[in-house]
Amino acid sequence: MGPPGAGKGTQAQVVAARYNIPAISTGDIFRKNVSEGTELGLEAKRFMDAGEYVPDSVTNLMVRNRIDEEDAAKGFLLDGYPRTLAQVDELDGMIAFTGHKLDAVVVLAVDSEELVRRLTARAETEGRTDDTEDVIRRRQEVYAEQTEPLIEVYRGHGILLEIDGAGEVDEVTGRIFDALDEIQES
Ligand code: ADP
Repeated sequence: MGPPGAGKGTQAQVVAARYNIPAISTGDIFRKNVSEGTELGLEAKRFMDAGEYVPDSVTNLMVRNRIDEEDAAKGFLLDGYPRTLAQVDELDGMIAFTGHKLDAVVVLAVDSEELVRRLTARAETEGRTDDTEDVIRRRQEVYAEQTEPLIEVYRGHGILLEIDGAGEVDEVTGRIFDALDEIQES
């Protein structure tokens, strides 16, 4: 978890590779569907371009289908899901069914000025249609309103790892690995 620009996608790739599990990014799956012009993509695009969340019903079904695939049978890392309380409940149900449990929830904390700096830089290199100033601001608001409350939920479950997301990519990765090693030992 973490606000837009916190580095979720970047860190998800490295962490998933370390455990040899797939990184499942809801944002990437939506973008792939948009570029392929699928029905799901058409539905998702209007929300994404406005900086709003895609409706839970659409997102939940997509994740359910994805974690049903064979490569996720031995475990998976979710990047950008769950983001709402309804998604938390849905995920609990999906996981109970597979016999897995959530081992950890990693939250990347980065101050808001740095987030805007990173997203503005990304807008220039990647050209994501939701990286415009207004939409970036809206995405930050939606995160604060709908997703930040999940941090307390997972803290209550005792599986929250809060990581300082400032600094170089490698430094942040090191912090995440250390925190994960610590829970694995305990
Ligand atoms: P960021 O976290 O930087 O906003 P993502 O690539 O993770 O970027 O997500 C891009 C967009 O995809 C979001 O703004 C939202 O519209 C949609 N999206 C991704 N994950 C979810 C989710 N779990 N629930 C609803 N919408 C989602």
